Amino acid sequence: MGRAFVYVILGGGVAAGYAALEFVKKGVSHGELCIISEEPVAPYERPALSKGFLLPEAAARLPSFHTCVGANEERLTPKWYKEHGIELVLGTGVKSADVKRKTLLTTTGETISYKFLIVATGARALKLEEFGVSGSDAENVCYLRDIADANRLVNVMQSCPGGNAVVIGGGYIGMECAASLVINKINVTMVFPEEHCMARLFTTKIANYYEEYYKSRGVNFVKGTVLSSFDFDSNGKVTAVNLRDGSTLSVDMVVVGIGIRPNTGLFEGQLTLEKGGIKVNGMLQSSNGSVYAIGDVAAFPVKAFGETRRLEHVDSARKCAKHVVAAILEPDKTGEFDYIPFFYSRIFTLSWQFYGDNVGEVVYYGDMSGSAFGAYWVSKGHLVGAFLEGGTKEEYEAIAKVTRLRPAIEDLTELERLGLKFAVSVSQKPAVSPPVEIRASDLLLEKPLYAWHATAGVIIAASIAAFAYFYGKKRRRW
Ligand SMILES: Cc1cc2nc3c(=O)[nH]c(=O)nc-3n(C[C@H](O)[C@H](O)[C@H](O)COP(=O)(O)OP(=O)(O)OC[C@H]3O[C@@H](n4cnc5c(N)ncnc54)[C@H](O)[C@@H]3O)c2cc1C
Repeated sequence: MGRAFVYVILGGGVAAGYAALEFVKKGVSHGELCIISEEPVAPYERPALSKGFLLPEAAARLPSFHTCVGANEERLTPKWYKEHGIELVLGTGVKSADVKRKTLLTTTGETISYKFLIVATGARALKLEEFGVSGSDAENVCYLRDIADANRLVNVMQSCPGGNAVVIGGGYIGMECAASLVINKINVTMVFPEEHCMARLFTTKIANYYEEYYKSRGVNFVKGTVLSSFDFDSNGKVTAVNLRDGSTLSVDMVVVGIGIRPNTGLFEGQLTLEKGGIKVNGMLQSSNGSVYAIGDVAAFPVKAFGETRRLEHVDSARKCAKHVVAAILEPDKTGEFDYIPFFYSRIFTLSWQFYGDNVGEVVYYGDMSGSAFGAYWVSKGHLVGAFLEGGTKEEYEAIAKVTRLRPAIEDLTELERLGLKFAVSVSQKPAVSPPVEIRASDLLLEKPLYAWHATAGVIIAASIAAFAYFYGKKRRRW
């Protein structure tokens, strides 16, 4: 049994949904595109699982959060795929791939061949067993990666109203689940080995703000230690969590959020891997010319950082999905993927966004005892990252823009004094277009690639000179 498609997307998550929409926008013909997914439902906005999905009232349920509603685009229901002649092969895993023969073998025994393959297999949640602790199968131990996990988490929460939960892990899954548990009136203790929550992104000072807020909502923190074992009752339910520091916490339920691992297994030994993911170039093309990779599984060059990164954020999945379709359908018109990392989270009534890179010196701004504050990261004399809690739409757009522009920063004290005003004023400068390669940080143009770019370059250079003059004046004036 076998079928052949021109384009096959392997994986049916966020990236797959956004790629499908882009294929349709660019005019794919009926019967050319196929999406194969282990999940039984059409692509959906995965971040909803730890937010709206877990609310005790008016919880989000499919079909309300199918992609691409998260980016204010069309909601792609199974009917939409059918109407556009896209074959959705759901509830079906791919168990092997042969990139030389351009074939995939599914768990149902079908061979699907392709001309172009887009790997969008995302990642899986790391299991406790990988850290030497058993008990993941217990009925009151939950993970959160897909809709089946989310349904299970809801059922377990509902089975122990007013009960005690331990959340293992202080990353965004742990933080968002802890908040949802509290909203569901469950007592929460968070356990993680680091000194503070969100250790990969937050500084101690930023983390402190959120931890204090969580404490005010009744969350306990046990930091600097890890889970060593569970106690079980005669039904195999976890009754207590034993920590390496010798303490024991009695529990009604456990939520584990200890990281993810990209699903690269099908391609090991066939494609070049890097940073735990499938290495791709600026066109999101892997070491095999017919195979592309996007989303959590892809390690792609982040131009602004001058290095390959693998990101685990929904915005990156959406944007590279869009780009890969252009790279495949219009290779001559498509440049290299140029992306500034963006990550956000919403917890309780709090909401933050982060752009860029969190390296170098940190400059805080705003009122950390109030509801809006932020930070900039300055590395090698340039602003490379920006964080904001409690901003307006315009303010978030401003920090996004200032991070992309990477302005030179000579005086950190001045930057601290200006705070958010700095991002807002830089972002209000006239847009530089068309989008040729500009590093506003250096206030220089890279080599124009084509003749028309040269003309545009003159205009842009003039804009940049004006920007530099204005910026210099502002710095002195402020
Ligand atoms: C609960 C939760 C909350 C999140 N919240 C945020 C947030 O607030 N902000 C943010 O920036 N990011 C957030 N993320 C991260 C974001 O959802 C991911 O970055 C994004 O989903 C990545 O998209 P993807 O398409 O690469 O992978 P996924 O969306 O994970 O999709 C991968 C798909 O591939 C399928 N698959 C894998 N292997 C196979 C196989 N062999 N055969 C067939 N199908 C296969 C999977 O079943 C899945 O459907 C969150 C993630 C989770 C789990």
